[in-house]
Amino acid sequence: MHVGRPNIADRALFDQYVDQIYEAKWLTNNGPLVQELEHQIQDYLSVKHCVAMCNGTIALEIATRALNFKREVIVPSFTFIATAHALQWQGIKPVFADIDAKTHNLDPKSVENLITSDTTGIIGVHLWGRPAPIGELQKIADKHDLKLMFDSAHAFGCTYEGVSIGNFGECEVLSFHATKFFNTFEGGAVVTNNDRLAEQMRLMRNFGFDGLDRVIYSGTNGKMTEICAAMGLCNLQVLDEVLDGNRQNYEEYLAQLDAIVGIKILRNDVRESSNYQYIVLEVDENFPVKRDQLIEILHVENIRARRYFWPGCHEMKPYRGQTDEANIVLENTLQTAEKVLVLPTGASVSFEDIKSISSLLRLLSETTQ
Ligand SMILES: *Cc1c(COP(=O)(O)O)cnc(C)c1O
Repeated sequence: MHVGRPNIADRALFDQYVDQIYEAKWLTNNGPLVQELEHQIQDYLSVKHCVAMCNGTIALEIATRALNFKREVIVPSFTFIATAHALQWQGIKPVFADIDAKTHNLDPKSVENLITSDTTGIIGVHLWGRPAPIGELQKIADKHDLKLMFDSAHAFGCTYEGVSIGNFGECEVLSFHATKFFNTFEGGAVVTNNDRLAEQMRLMRNFGFDGLDRVIYSGTNGKMTEICAAMGLCNLQVLDEVLDGNRQNYEEYLAQLDAIVGIKILRNDVRESSNYQYIVLEVDENFPVKRDQLIEILHVENIRARRYFWPGCHEMKPYRGQTDEANIVLENTLQTAEKVLVLPTGASVSFEDIKSISSLLRLLSETTQ
C-alpha cells in the first residue's frame, strides 16, 4: 500500500492515442493532443486559458516570471520545496510565512507581517487540495499593490466557494506529476483568465518563438510532449471514477479512525468539492506512540505512510539561515510538520486495507507508554 500510487486509465485507451501519435508523427511542439488536452482542462475547470507545460516546477518559474516577480515573494513554508525553489532558482527570495494550524494553509496575518518595500508578490498554496484563504489573501494583495498567484498542484478538481480552483489570483499553477490526483506522467500547466498573461506564457514556454523562426521574447523550454498529453487525455476520462474511489476511502478512514484519541483526520469542507487525494492525520501527544515511531511500525507492516513537508521549507538547507537571521519563528509550521502523517489511498487501497490499518492504529492507541 503506497502513498502516491498513480491514478491511471486503461492501457487499451492509451494505446489508441499512441497509434495516433505514430500516424501523425508529431511528437512535441504544441501538437494536436496537447491542444486537445488544454481545451479539455479549460472546460473541466471552466477557465479561459490552460497553458500546458512539461512539469509543475517549470510552470511555476514561467508564471512567476510572466508576473514580473522580483526581489521578495511571500510563500508558505509548509509546502513542497518546489514552491520555494522556483523563486530561488531565478534569484527571487522566497520569504516564508506561517500557516494556520487548523487548515495547514497560509495565515493571512503572517503574510501581511512579512510585507516589505521589496515584496512583489504572494504565492498561496491550496494544501492537500483544500483552498487557501483566497478572499483574505486577495484583499492583502490589493491593499499593498502586490500580485497574487497560486500553487495549485494539489487542487485539481477542487473548489473555493463553489468555483473551480484555477480561476483565482493572476493565475494558478497545476502539477500533473505521477503522484498527483490527475497525471500526465510528468506535466503541469498554468491556468488563467487573463488573455495577455496566457499569450506571454505560451511564448515563454517555447523559447519566445512567434511562428517558425521569429523570436520576440526571452523564454525557455517548458513544452509538454504528445505522449504526456495522451496520458492526460486518458486519465481525464476516468477522473470521476478515481474521485469516487478517493472519496469513499476518505469516508471509510473517517469512520474508522474518528474515535481514536490522539489522532485527528484533517477534514474537507463539505460545502466544497475536493479530490480527496491526501489522507492527512495529525498525531499528537495524546497518542501513545510518537509520529515517527508510528511511521516505522506502519512500514514494518508494509503500509507506506509518510511524513510530508517536514520540517518545513524554511528549515531545509538552502533556506535555513534566512528565518534565523530575521529572528522569525514559524511556530505553527514547526508544530504541524511534527504531527502530520499521510496515509495511503487511491485505487490500490481497498476498504479491507483501511480496516486493517485502522485496527493497527486502534490497537496502538490502547497500549500504554
Ligand atoms: C508536486 C508539487 C509541485 C511540483 O510539481 P512538479 O510537477 O513535480 O514539478 C509544486 N508544488 C507543490 C505544492 C507540489 O505538490
